[in-house]
Amino acid sequence: MKTTQEWIKEYPLITDLVNFKEVFWSNPKYEPYQNSANNLPLKVEDVQAAEERLKRFAPYIANVFLETRNLNGIIESPIAEIPVFKQKLEQIYQQSLPGKFLLKCDNDLPISGSIKARGGIYEVLKHAEDLALQYGMIRLEDDYSVLDSEKFKIFFSKFSIAVGSTGNLGLSIGIMSAKIGFKVIVHMSADAKQWKKDLLRSKGVTVIEYKEDYSKAVEEGRKQAQSDPNCYFIDDENSRDLFLGYAVAALRLTKQLEDLNVIVDENHPLFVYLPCGVGGGPGGVAFGLKLMLQDHVHCFFAEPTHSPCMLLGLMTGLHDKISVQDIGIDNITAADGLAVGRASGFVGKVIEPILSGDYTVSDDELYRLLALMRDTENICLEPSALAGVIGPVKLCIEQDGQEYIQKKNLDDKLKNATHLMWATGGSMVPEEIMMDYYNKGFSLLK
Ligand SMILES: *Cc1c(COP(=O)(O)O)cnc(C)c1O
Repeated sequence: MKTTQEWIKEYPLITDLVNFKEVFWSNPKYEPYQNSANNLPLKVEDVQAAEERLKRFAPYIANVFLETRNLNGIIESPIAEIPVFKQKLEQIYQQSLPGKFLLKCDNDLPISGSIKARGGIYEVLKHAEDLALQYGMIRLEDDYSVLDSEKFKIFFSKFSIAVGSTGNLGLSIGIMSAKIGFKVIVHMSADAKQWKKDLLRSKGVTVIEYKEDYSKAVEEGRKQAQSDPNCYFIDDENSRDLFLGYAVAALRLTKQLEDLNVIVDENHPLFVYLPCGVGGGPGGVAFGLKLMLQDHVHCFFAEPTHSPCMLLGLMTGLHDKISVQDIGIDNITAADGLAVGRASGFVGKVIEPILSGDYTVSDDELYRLLALMRDTENICLEPSALAGVIGPVKLCIEQDGQEYIQKKNLDDKLKNATHLMWATGGSMVPEEIMMDYYNKGFSLLK
């Protein structure tokens, strides 16, 4: 492994990374969709199969989670227009930000209130279906409402599920697994918030706490699960199923945009800004969007200045073979959902040719944006979920952002653009904790 000084020589941007300065990086390995399409490890059929599976479970989900009934058991979030927030950003940054601003409100996803309600719940259901099919308990044509019964709870209680998490993945997998009847063990990193652990324990989930960060919680969880043949480990660093669960969002999003009369084509580019931790959530969504919209969509990841693991992995080409700690960055951030020091190698390699770029945001900026979003649009998000909303400012202000726009001939198309920021979580945060976040952001605005 090279020293930090050697890395800096090779990649000067690392100077800013180690000084916790906000950066914007455009991806030199980005390729036109046609060049990368044949090398992608998953196809649109895989995403469609995942969507079909979620449809099979919808009657069951509607039965056991009442808040999903208005969408008939489909776990999906609305899109909000945020024009007042846009105006406020233009005013603060003294910068015109052409195009329409939309917020994808995964903070309002039912069941677990974050983007993890996509991948996490999907993988638990997939595993449940695999077991039920294997033991002849169910057929694909059946109405899965039957899963809501003592018979199935007793069946699933013979099996367990384990996962390592900074909080939100544990919430989604813990809540879903406990509901269907699995025994479930969540290995929580030091960043995990107390209320998330309390909530899980109240649902009968076993929570094991670590003093170390996310990578350690995952490693320990994986190790312990290996010793029990009936324990299934949901591997956030490598899971194809989690990734597909997230990718389903893209199929639905393109329909939602059509319903809102938002055009995405050659002359109407779509920019999407996604907060990134280990990479599965934003990677899955970006991958799905590329399949659907190809060169008309431009995906950017957003990471905390103290946890830029995906940027580091992509820039050096080392993916999961390098961590932010290796270059002296501490991985300590208020954005608990993004507090990951080592990115997923699986995701990094898949998105290498399709990701447009990555930028970092300081914790103070996340808090300020949190207060601004509440003041302007009355939408309450958790700190991690604000990383995406500053994306259009970065694109328009940073030199590398401007170069990206010019290289892709997007200059005169910006006025027709749509900027979609992915709001990845927030509705489960207890009110008094949200008020603390808000007050902190409000005081930083002055
Ligand atoms: C987990 C999480 C993310 C990022 O997802 P990864 O799969 O870890 O990259 C973003 N925002 C919130 C609120 C999260 O909980």
